[in-house]
Amino acid sequence: GVAAIPGGFGTGKTVMQHQLAQWADADVVIFVGCGERGNEMAEVLERFPKLKDPRTGLPLMMRTILVANVSNMPIAAREASVYTGITMAEYFRDMGYDVALQADSTSRWAEAMREVSGRLEEMPGEEGYPAYLASRIAMFYERAGRVETLGSKSRVGSISIVGAVSPPGGDFSEPVTQNTLRVVKVFWALDTELAYRRHFPAINWLMSYSLYLDSLDEWYRNKVAKDWSKLRSTAMGILQQDAELQEIVQLVGPDALSDRQRVVLEVAKMIKEDYLMQHAYHPIDTYCSMEKAYHMLKIIIEFYERAMKCVDKGIPFRKIASLPVIESIARMKIQPIEGFEDYAKKLMREMEKEFSELLGETT
Ligand code: ADP
Ligand code: MG
Repeated sequence: GVAAIPGGFGTGKTVMQHQLAQWADADVVIFVGCGERGNEMAEVLERFPKLKDPRTGLPLMMRTILVANVSNMPIAAREASVYTGITMAEYFRDMGYDVALQADSTSRWAEAMREVSGRLEEMPGEEGYPAYLASRIAMFYERAGRVETLGSKSRVGSISIVGAVSPPGGDFSEPVTQNTLRVVKVFWALDTELAYRRHFPAINWLMSYSLYLDSLDEWYRNKVAKDWSKLRSTAMGILQQDAELQEIVQLVGPDALSDRQRVVLEVAKMIKEDYLMQHAYHPIDTYCSMEKAYHMLKIIIEFYERAMKCVDKGIPFRKIASLPVIESIARMKIQPIEGFEDYAKKLMREMEKEFSELLGETT
């Protein structure tokens, strides 16, 4: 598959790509540093040999290729680095490996293309980029995919591309972002405001999308849980309601809200802070398995449903908001993956007990 991570300066594109390089379920990782700061590349060179591949226990560097064309290198090299990366990816794909390619950043590649085109005195298109910008971007992302290789002993190999885009001023309407959006199926929009509030990864949950949901539905049902898709859409619904309610709160203040609406705000806060937020440098929070993600979301949605039931029975919101289980939910993300299922079961029992005590009070 193909994904894009557009975001302004300092929104976390590089950290996200490093994280993906470290944790992606791939046999080979190719990291193309294209026109970005050299010290970031040096950091990868320093850090990766020390890190262990979570799947094999060997140094991460043994399955990683770095293509380093940092900001002070020639333009022609910068233009070529993306092609160098994808060609090596195809070489390993043809051996039957799953390859993950990270390109940071494709904007620098496009700028190099603009520079080269300018020197060739070609007719400039939008914002001075060459008229073939769109097709070049498409031709790059098109090289991703899953293939059955030629030759004896049939093998299946794949390439996934995640490209960072750094639009000047974080303005997504510029040509490189727009042309990338036309070809990629996953859009992780990094939000300057979230990054400013230190909500990392700063992925805007309302703007971002994935067009692979339908294709992945069956996989999720078999490998994660039957109700995963349902939980995800419930959570999405809560976040959408939250955005609408936040506007009301800004206009007329929080007193205008009903208790049901307050539950929505509380649970949306939980989803944002306890589930979506993930600290890249925390030893446990840095990585979350699908199983852990599933249990976490299940607990939050369970809380939502129970809280709504209580409000409908006339229990004031402030009583729900002072339940100790909220504190335990906030600590879920720093619980280790090993034994998380037991932890989740314990938390569910704790929640059930606290809510039935609440309901018992009024009857
Ligand atoms: P960009 O490449 O978009 O300019 P970076 O990836 O360099 O931005 O991120 C800028 C800073 O934001 C990092 O140095 C780090 O402090 C912080 N940051 C980004 N993502 C995370 C994360 N997931 N967890 C913690 N901190 C993060
Ligand atoms: Mg960066």
